Order: sequence, then structure tokens, then C-alpha cells
Amino acid sequence: MAGGDAELLGPGDPPPVEVRDRAADGPVIVTCDHASNRVPAALGDLGLSRADLDSHFGWDIGAAEMAAAAAAALGAPAVYCGYSRLVIDCNRPQDAADSIVPRIDGRPVPGNTALDERQRQLRGREIFSAYHAAIAMLMDQRARRGLPNSLVCMHSFTPVFGGVRRPWHVGISYGRRGRLARALLAELRRDGDLVVGEHEPYPVEVESDFAVPVHGDLRGNEAVLVEVRQDLLADAASARRWGTRLAAALRDAIAACELEVGVAPAGEL
Ligand SMILES: [Zn+2]
Repeated sequence: MAGGDAELLGPGDPPPVEVRDRAADGPVIVTCDHASNRVPAALGDLGLSRADLDSHFGWDIGAAEMAAAAAAALGAPAVYCGYSRLVIDCNRPQDAADSIVPRIDGRPVPGNTALDERQRQLRGREIFSAYHAAIAMLMDQRARRGLPNSLVCMHSFTPVFGGVRRPWHVGISYGRRGRLARALLAELRRDGDLVVGEHEPYPVEVESDFAVPVHGDLRGNEAVLVEVRQDLLADAASARRWGTRLAAALRDAIAACELEVGVAPAGEL
């Protein structure tokens, strides 16, 4: 959406959303809401340090590499948000208090305080809405091709929260449609060394989540939110290994719950 009638994103800014392998006919759509820690040039650094932007406050460390590896292994399209959750969180309803966080770690985010309605709307329109419109459009295209629109949302979480160590290696959360999620939980739990959380570290809530309730529950699609602990994704090779591992578990989960594994007729789209 850069260019055209864009007022926030400029010609030097990357697009708000990247769809890779759009025509891939794999059994799911992979998304990564918190793939990037970029900030539009017009917003500078939001008044934060480079270290803040590079930390988990800025993005989900390792999630983009993990999502890419999972999508490649599944032959699936993948949708990545192009901007930091500190600009606007694409997994929050826009009326949520932390859609545009005013503080991190008890400190103010200078670029996010005293925003007027127009500034909020620009971030919403040019980033949040552009990202979710791309997911919806991909789902419409796949529906016309007879492909399933099961959604796998890839995230990562911090090893320690509020001074407490989080024990799970991986957490699976879901909304009202939990068939694929429960099958994935069963597959992951086959590995006795893996600590697997259900609705951990966070449950999916309509008030604090967007992708699963809207693209999953409201549209009648299976939707799974996958969270992997960030210390397990500390380098790109580890993140890719996790993506490949999750893809294998997803394939078995899909087979187990007899979801249609999409094979598109040749030449369609
Ligand atoms: Zn996330």
C-alpha cells in the first residue's frame, strides 16, 4: 500500500504485508503477525533504542524463519506482516488497549503516546487492515480453487515472564474450532521430551487476539496459534529446524483429523 493514497508509508518503506508462494496448494495457510521489527520511516524509531526494537517487544524473535521453514515443508503459502507490533499489533483488535502499546516494560513508548485519532487510523488502515485484507484475499482465492483454508499462526514467546520461567517448549492455542489444534497437540505430545502447553502461554481471546477469531472462527476455518519459546529459536538454523518439525506434526495432524489435504487441479488460479 506504499504509494497511492498512503500517508504513513512512504516510497522507501517496505510493503505492510508479504505473501510468499501465494499459489502453493499445501493444506494450510501460514501467517506470521509479528514477523518484523521495522518501523515506517515517518515514525523514526518511536523514541526507542535499537535494543528495544530488536527485543521481543519489537517482534517475535525467530518466528519468521520458523514460519518460512514450516511453509516450505508444507508447500503452503505464507503471509508476513512487514512492521513491528510496536507500530500496531496485528494480532489485537484495533479497539484493544494494547493495539498500539503506550508502554513497554513499564516505560513509555514516546512515539505511541498522545496519538490522535487520525494517527491511529493511518496505522490501522495502512498496516493492520492491509495485512488482514491480504489474508482474506488469499483465503478467497483458495476457496475458489477448492483448497482448505486452515490457518496456522506462528508466534514465539519469552522464556521468562514476570520473573517466572515458562516451562513449555511449545504452546498450542485455539478458538472455537479446535479439531486441527487438538490433533496437533496429540502429535506433539508423542515426543515425551517435549513440554507442550494447551492454551499456553496464552489462551486465544476475542478481546486480545485477531487472526484466530476472525480468519478462523468467524469464517468457519480451523485455526491454530503456535507459540515456540524464544530460546529454542535463538539462531536461524534452530528456527528452521522447529519450522520443519512443526510441519511434520501438522501433516500428521491433518491426516489424523481427516481434513482435506488440498491438491489443486492443474493450471487453476
Ligand atoms: Zn506473536
